[in-house]
Amino acid sequence: MLPYQLRIFLSKMNGVFMKRRGRNRSQRVQRANEAIIYLSSIIVNPQVDIEIRHSAARDLFRTCTRHNQPLPEQLKNWICRGCFRVLIPGETARVRVRDKIRITTCLSCNREKRRPFSTEVLN
Ligand SMILES: [Zn+2]
Repeated sequence: MLPYQLRIFLSKMNGVFMKRRGRNRSQRVQRANEAIIYLSSIIVNPQVDIEIRHSAARDLFRTCTRHNQPLPEQLKNWICRGCFRVLIPGETARVRVRDKIRITTCLSCNREKRRPFSTEVLN
């Protein structure tokens, strides 16, 4: 098959899958949640290459946004909203406390995240 025809074929196939996905909401959300759990396990694993963890963080954010699912509680403060990289204190992020507010600064895009301590969970 020629590449051009192959592209048309694939786009038609994609259209079929899109229709099927639209009909089955609970399965879609279930699959999204499986992906969210899997991506979270990559992000928190310090043995995985850091670039892979960064792209897992971006994919996680995309998956959550697309399927209208909340970001996992233990990760939502540790993904940069500017460049969607993993924020690791001392490695990819600088964490400072000023006036009872925790300021996390992403070292790749310098975006700051401010969070008061009182509402903080255990991370
Ligand atoms: Zn950033």
